[in-house]
Amino acid sequence: MIGQYLSLVGLEKHFGSVRAVTSLSLEISAGEFVSLVGPSGSGKTTALNMIAGFEGPSAGKIVIGGRDVTHVAPNRRGIGMVFQKYALFPHLTVHQNIAFPLRMRGRSNKTRIATRVEEMLELVQLSSYGERYPQQLSGGQQQRVALARALAFEPPVLLMDEPLGALDKKLREAMQFEIKRLQERLGATVVYVTHDQDEALTMSDRVAVMAGGELMQFGPPTELYRHPNSAFVADFIGRMNFIEGSCLENAGGTAVVRLSDDTVLSIRSQGPRNVGPSAGQTVKLAIRPERVRVARCGEGGAGCLAAVVETCVFVGSVHIVMVRLESRPDVVLQIQLPADGGLPFHERDQVDLLLDDGAIHLFPETERHAA
Ligand code: ATP
Repeated sequence: MIGQYLSLVGLEKHFGSVRAVTSLSLEISAGEFVSLVGPSGSGKTTALNMIAGFEGPSAGKIVIGGRDVTHVAPNRRGIGMVFQKYALFPHLTVHQNIAFPLRMRGRSNKTRIATRVEEMLELVQLSSYGERYPQQLSGGQQQRVALARALAFEPPVLLMDEPLGALDKKLREAMQFEIKRLQERLGATVVYVTHDQDEALTMSDRVAVMAGGELMQFGPPTELYRHPNSAFVADFIGRMNFIEGSCLENAGGTAVVRLSDDTVLSIRSQGPRNVGPSAGQTVKLAIRPERVRVARCGEGGAGCLAAVVETCVFVGSVHIVMVRLESRPDVVLQIQLPADGGLPFHERDQVDLLLDDGAIHLFPETERHAA
């Protein structure tokens, strides 16, 4: 299907004086996998509950497949749900659990229902588990049954709220892959709420970052990672180092930022996405750990920053080096280096840092949501 399949238009939800969601607008295409991420209390679940129909919006509308469903009952919206709190029915077998939404939707042909349940069990690779009860399954198997139950009636929209929250890391990763595979195979449009930003980056076509009920940024994972539009998003998505400074000048695509009395950096503008600060403003300079280069003391060349290594640890795929800036002892930066040899640095080593100025983001210190 072409065009926007799920549209949220100026959605608001107030609980008394609490503004849980504020003017949320999202256009989601058919077959797209979109995650809502944000800190606790940022309005993710409230937004999902409004799409599901469990909460009526205070303002705004919800359109699914061209139909305004803002005031339509949940079971008439054509939505499948995998919510942690809507667990499997414990007194029904796996087969009966999956058949339940089909019966609810008025399908009465027993043979057809049984065939559909078998297909779904095969899809989630639990074909021989139909007669078991939920408590006779592992956590991951229960999640797969919940997924099969939600997919059984082929909903064009699937809502998931922390569906993998209760699982350990290994199972979680296996299930992420599984959900993604099923979603692609069925072409379902998914809105997925998670606390885990790595999970969101791995699974989603686009990610919506929320804070304080507001949408901060909506875009593909690579865009959020490479071009965060605020210090908040920069901090929330992936790891980021921040250094406070003051902007001395910002003209002709280059900003001059003072970090300390004797340290001034010239930073190339990041293009139109990064709204530049003006002279005199306090700024946050942000750089990813993998974009800081480290050289032995005296080998860094012009424009480098002197620093002292505090720790250097091997974490499998990379070395993590923590360094303290000599000119700004309040700043400790995290650096990631490829782990192809032994430990490259040791505690108290003096080093030169080169910040790749094409990779530095500059944010004015005026944001409502703190990074
Ligand atoms: P979490 O990640 O912790 O689940 P969330 O991002 O899903 O959080 P919501 O559950 O949507 O956030 O809550 C958003 C805000 O609305 C919070 O401040 C919360 O306390 C408030 N809120 C949610 N439901 C209600 C309610 N029924 N009555 C009053 N306030 C509510």
